[in-house]
Amino acid sequence: MAITVVGSVAYDSVETPAGRYDRQLAGAATYFSLAASYFTEVRVIAVVGEDFGPEQEAVFQARKVDIRGIERATGKTFFWQGSYIAENLNEAKTHRTDLNVFAGFEPKIPDAYRDSEFLFLANIDPVLQRRVREAMPHVKLVAGDTMNYWIKDHKPALLEVLSGLDLLLINDTETRMLAGNNNLVQAARNVLTMGPKTLVVKHGEYGATAFFAPKEGQGPIRAFRAPALPLDEVVDPTGAGDSFAGGLFGYLASQREITPAVFRRAMFYGGVMGSFAVERFGTERLQQLDRKEIDERFNLFRELTHLE
Ligand code: AMP
Repeated sequence: MAITVVGSVAYDSVETPAGRYDRQLAGAATYFSLAASYFTEVRVIAVVGEDFGPEQEAVFQARKVDIRGIERATGKTFFWQGSYIAENLNEAKTHRTDLNVFAGFEPKIPDAYRDSEFLFLANIDPVLQRRVREAMPHVKLVAGDTMNYWIKDHKPALLEVLSGLDLLLINDTETRMLAGNNNLVQAARNVLTMGPKTLVVKHGEYGATAFFAPKEGQGPIRAFRAPALPLDEVVDPTGAGDSFAGGLFGYLASQREITPAVFRRAMFYGGVMGSFAVERFGTERLQQLDRKEIDERFNLFRELTHLE
């Protein structure tokens, strides 16, 4: 089943202990759609500037990602600059965020996207996430992501988005920040009262935990933790979270029914796509995978963890 995704399509300048790059095609929706494209049909809604051309389009087209919903506007594409230190590759330090053409963006949904059954609200202004959600009332499953930038200064708009989500994927720090509570389990319980039925907390190199809303809001919280594959080298952590989300949601959308076992496998497919993303700079590795490599890594996971 097809996924429609709204989120940033960006140029990133990034410095990691392994090296640096300048103004490469990236953004949350880009990482997400490349990762999800190995599992199902993906359609993107975003806006780019005059600096986005055939070379960038080709990256999406090579993965058969539908970009009819990427609007061209006068101005520059969203720009993000960040860096990582060797002691903590799990968290980026943001040096600059230029919204550019996203500042005045009015999302329009192409008619060809209307039958999408899955909707992913990747990281972007929650006002835009909400508009797209409202324009697609018939989707079967809605998941979303956000980050500290929006939690800190755009909380009321974000809370409106959260109230309509089936699944929220954020990292540890964001979970604690959103709930205003440093205990992860208490914070997760609190976030689950904001709307999402399931919260997936990403722990970077340590894996991810899914928290499921307790029945009628009472009782112990149910959780499932999936480890990340131990990697010898992390070249660039940028996009790991979005690629994890793409693998997880892409796999869910490719299945006829979402059972607890399917959800557990989806957590591992998320880990697989995250692990590929960080092996090279930017989106490079995600552009040239094949399904066989993905399944080989998934099977390695299966053996290591005795996943059914
Ligand atoms: P992550 O998976 O969290 O590493 O996401 C990295 C991507 O998020 C980068 O490619 C950035 O272009 C994008 N990004 C950074 N800041 C923002 C923001 N405030 N809104 C939307 N996207 C962003």
